Amino acid sequence: MSGRARLMWDDAVTGYDFGDGHPMDPVRLALTMGLVRAYGLDAAVDVRSAGAAGESTLRLVHREDYVDAVRAASADPKAADQAYGLGTVDDPAFAGMHEASALIAGLSVGAAEAVWRGESEHAVNFTGGLHHAMPGAAAGFCVYNDPALAIARLLELGAERVAYVDVDVHHGDGVQAAFWEDPRVLTVSLHEHPRTLFPQTGWPEETGSGAGEGGAVNVALPAGTGDAGWLRAFHAVVPELLADFRPQVLVTQHGADTHFEDPLAHLAVSLDAQRAVMTACHELAHAHAEGGRWVALGGGGYAVVDVVPRSWTHLVGIAAHAPVDPESVIPASWRDEVYARTRQLGPGRMTDGRTPEWRSWEEGYDPADRLDQAVRATRRAAFPLRGLLP
Ligand SMILES: [Zn+2]
Ligand SMILES: [Zn+2]
Repeated sequence: MSGRARLMWDDAVTGYDFGDGHPMDPVRLALTMGLVRAYGLDAAVDVRSAGAAGESTLRLVHREDYVDAVRAASADPKAADQAYGLGTVDDPAFAGMHEASALIAGLSVGAAEAVWRGESEHAVNFTGGLHHAMPGAAAGFCVYNDPALAIARLLELGAERVAYVDVDVHHGDGVQAAFWEDPRVLTVSLHEHPRTLFPQTGWPEETGSGAGEGGAVNVALPAGTGDAGWLRAFHAVVPELLADFRPQVLVTQHGADTHFEDPLAHLAVSLDAQRAVMTACHELAHAHAEGGRWVALGGGGYAVVDVVPRSWTHLVGIAAHAPVDPESVIPASWRDEVYARTRQLGPGRMTDGRTPEWRSWEEGYDPADRLDQAVRATRRAAFPLRGLLP
């Protein structure tokens, strides 16, 4: 197995563009790739494109009538059918919508194939992670669900156990829905509580059904949760589940919208903590996934200059076994690029200068603490279904 990580990229991904004023500005992808290059990380990975996901691949998750509706909206945005979530405020239709969405999906599927076939131990597609798309509808800025498609492709290739860990600030609802009854896929999502944030799902009691009962795990974090709570919750839930499940592949989603500067949500996580969770996911892949197989995806993130590029550049560095020093001063060439593209001044350092610390769950919990209540609710609802102590 190659030690060299794969980075999926195609300049055409910036065609995934809902238009002026939409929070998901594709400049975030261009600036991330620019920062990856400014650090020379593109030389530490195999940068590859992949074809757009074709009809048979999209159909692994999405309904035929929905794919047809996306194609129609893509050809004539004015004809978008809102019954499919298209042409809405969250998912405005745009020319080329099908092609751009299928390309991003193809990059995640390509990442999964490379890892499954042993061409790369780790593969990153930070342009993906569009976890809200449903089998029959666009939702939450997501048209095709590339994480679900990557997982479905792994199952098609013969995988029997795939773990999905989603640390985006929003619930990974579309991925959970795609594998709700499938015991081969364990989905774990840590997110801001559904009472205060879209998509208003991701309650601890959502645990899957039928043969997939216990296959969905949800941690609903109180608004305002910061580094210590976020890391405590992650470590109180994720490592134990992965050690028990022993996935053949670990797929992770690293939406950067947990950050305290993110305009669309209410957690208070720093880049330092995001980087710590990425490092933990990498270590967990080596510890528990067969052959260290790890597919890492992007996701949400709406502080498009100040947060997203730094967050995902760390992800690429970690997957490349060439982590970027948190103290590092950002190359001036990239800050020039930021100014040229956005007329904003880019950040000067690679993190927020915090030292993330958290208390281990094994040291006990405080029944009056809201974060601890959230973790307990998750463990009580889901762990016994998997034969684990709550
Ligand atoms: Zn999000
Ligand atoms: Zn590694």
